[in-house]
This record gives sequence, structure tokens and C-alpha cells, in this order.
Amino acid sequence: MSTARAPLRSLDEALAELLGHAQPLGRTQTVSTFEADGRVLALDLVSGLHVPPQDNSSMDGYAVRRAEVAQALASAAALPVSQRIAAGCAGQPLAPGSVARIFTGAPIPQGADAVVMQEDAEPIEGPQPAVRIAQAPALGQWIRRAGEDVTRGAVVLARGERLTPASIGLAAGIGLDTLVVAQRPRVALFSTGDELVMPGEVAPADMKPGAIYNSNRFFLRAMLLRLGCEVSDLGIVPDTREATLAALRQASLAHDLILTSGGVSVGEEDHIKPAVEALGRLHLWQMAIKPGKPFAYGRIGAAHFAGLPGNPVSSFLTFALLVRPFLLKLQGATRLAPDTMRLAAHFDWPRADRRREFLRVRRNAQGGLDLFPNQSSGVLTSVVWGDGVVDNPAGQTIAHGDQVRFISLAELLA
Ligand code: AMP
Ligand code: MG
Repeated sequence: MSTARAPLRSLDEALAELLGHAQPLGRTQTVSTFEADGRVLALDLVSGLHVPPQDNSSMDGYAVRRAEVAQALASAAALPVSQRIAAGCAGQPLAPGSVARIFTGAPIPQGADAVVMQEDAEPIEGPQPAVRIAQAPALGQWIRRAGEDVTRGAVVLARGERLTPASIGLAAGIGLDTLVVAQRPRVALFSTGDELVMPGEVAPADMKPGAIYNSNRFFLRAMLLRLGCEVSDLGIVPDTREATLAALRQASLAHDLILTSGGVSVGEEDHIKPAVEALGRLHLWQMAIKPGKPFAYGRIGAAHFAGLPGNPVSSFLTFALLVRPFLLKLQGATRLAPDTMRLAAHFDWPRADRRREFLRVRRNAQGGLDLFPNQSSGVLTSVVWGDGVVDNPAGQTIAHGDQVRFISLAELLA
């Protein structure tokens, strides 16, 4: 006789609930703009100046008055070069009937209304340098206008944005050498599993039967660091209730999040769930995704707790889909969901699953998606080979040529 089980929570429900618990920590710090890549801005950045600050040349050439060029053209006359303005110099107003030699980035002299690039001007040597210009320029040609990048008073980056190499460049461009960002969330990380061995401790040839290397510890730590976290690595915790309780208790002090891998399923050797229930509260456990079903979320004291499944692909994907947005929200980030796109499957997936599946795929040269042949949750090679996942709804088969929802790993790892 089978007992009716409550349907598993959907990923969307689980994520919504998880994010409901993730109130931004609100602690901020000032960091050098040099060090701010990947951090979340805690304040709007308002520009105190125009960028560029004044009209300047986008070419090496000659700053001119168009009307005078047109006149000189009519009489086939050359125009004298009355001054030379290099980047970093301020020129004089343009003398009537003359042009100014000018270089990229140099301010346009008062009175000039266009730049002729040097390739379009024929220099005439002599005691008084001059140029002959073959064609009258358009108004404003090769002039970058003051404020065309940023206007004074504009919000160039909003609070909650995550800084990128380009955005720290922009912040520097408005004169900011320091930025106020969210403090790093403090994350305690540990792995469970008596089978786990650290690389370096036992050589591959000496591994005992049943032993495996701890790979989750490495990618989880790397993903946490990419997300701006401060990681306390508590190592491997034995599969006993006492050790699990002790590790959770210790981790719950002075950390914002306790992140574990393994031991969160239903076997007798899975101690995480009962230990969290004993020390705090479990809010979420199990959801209808494949891989990654056993994911758990709860709280122990002031610390959040997220329990990832032990299978490496399950661990990786539940981190990317659930813990990543959670940690971003703790930092006050506003953009939490990865961008997705529709692409054509260049494979068949004939067996529908009751759970929403995340299939490891790779974009091919035809713009379609190839499937990694082994989709087992233990096969980390699939994530290394792949450059993304197909988010396949529950109950859905895929035929070659179908449009599917693709999430790139670059989005999930950013
Ligand atoms: P568990 O969730 O503890 O039942 O583990 C599920 C599977 O994942 C088992 O085959 C474990 O050996 C494996 N596993 C658990 N933790 C890790 C880890 N840190 N690195 C690699 N494999 C792991
Ligand atoms: Mg285990």
C-alpha cells in the first residue's frame, strides 16, 4: 500500500520563499575603486561633472570653422595652422581664417565647429604651416560633445548594482577613488561524508575502497568567493549526529550563512536535516527539480542555513539556482535572476520527468545546443564540458529542433 505524499515544492515557490528570508544585511564598507569589482554598490553614484568634461576631438587632425573651409575650397586656397593643441592642453580661441592642429582627446578651441581628420588634409610645408582641405566637414564632425557619456548630476550606477570591470572604470571616470559597497557576507562552509578525502592527503593510488575526493568543497568555495563572500572553511564533518550538531552550532556563530554539502537526504547517514531541526528551524526541504531534489533551507540562531545535496552536479546547480540569488540579495543586489534565452535543441530528450530538469548542454557552431551524453548528478564532467543548462519544465520531452530555455553558466557563475 502506498501512502500519499505531499507534492514537492516547485523551484519557483522555493526560490520565492528563500528570497523572502533573505533580508539585505545592510552592513556597508568603503573600498578602493580598484578593489570593487564584483561588489554590490550600497549608494547611488551621482556624477559631479560632465564626461567628457568639455568638447574634444575624436581624431588627430585639424579643428576648423566649416564656413571658412568652404570658402577656402572655392578659391583653392590653403588655410594657415595658427596653433597646436595636444591632449591635456587648453588651446586659444581659433584665430579667424585659420585652423588648429589638434590631437585625439584635446579640447576643441572656442570658435571651431568641426574637426577634419589628418588623412583628409594635405599639409603644406613652409615658414607658415598651412593645410589644404579637399572637402568641407559636416557640422560637429569628429567632435565628442561634453557630457555625451555622462551628464553632471546623473546617476551613473544605482545602489544594488553589482560592479563590473566596466562599471569601476566609469566610477573612476567621475572621480571616485573609493566606493561604498555591501560588506561581504560571512559564510561557513562544510562538507559531510565519511567517504570524503582531501586531495593531497591521500594519493590516488592509495585511495581505500569507497573513498572519493572532496570536489564540492573546491567549487563551492570558488563560487562563494566569486559572489563576494568571506568563507570560513570548516572542512569535512563526520557522518554522526554529534559531529553534525557541533559543526552547525559552531558555524551558527558569527556567520550569515551556513552552507553544507551532502547528508541532507533521507538515509540514516544523513544527519543534517534532524540536526538543523534540533538546533533551529527548517523552512524548506526538497523540491521538484532534477538534479537537486534534497535542497534544504533553515535558520540556526541568527544564521541562515542552506543544505546542498552531496552529488556534485546537484550541489553545483542548487548553489547556482538558489544560493547565488540568496547571497546576492543579502548584499542588497537588485538583479538576482540570470538572463535566459531561447535556443534550438540539437538533441532529443524523449523521456519526460515529473520534476523540472536542468540538462547540461553546450552551444554549437550552428547556434543550437548539444547535450552532454551522461546527465547523471554525479558526473561533474558534464558541467565542465557544458556552457549552460536547459531549463526543461516538468513533464516535457524535447525533440531535435525544439526551442528550449537556455541559461548560460557564465550567468550562473557571475
Ligand atoms: P549525500 O548527499 O551525502 O547522500 O551524497 C550523495 C553522493 O554525493 C554520494 O555518492 C557522495 O559520495 C557524493 N558526495 C557527497 N559529498 C561530496 C563531495 N564533497 N564531493 C564529491 N562527492 C560528494
Ligand atoms: Mg553523505
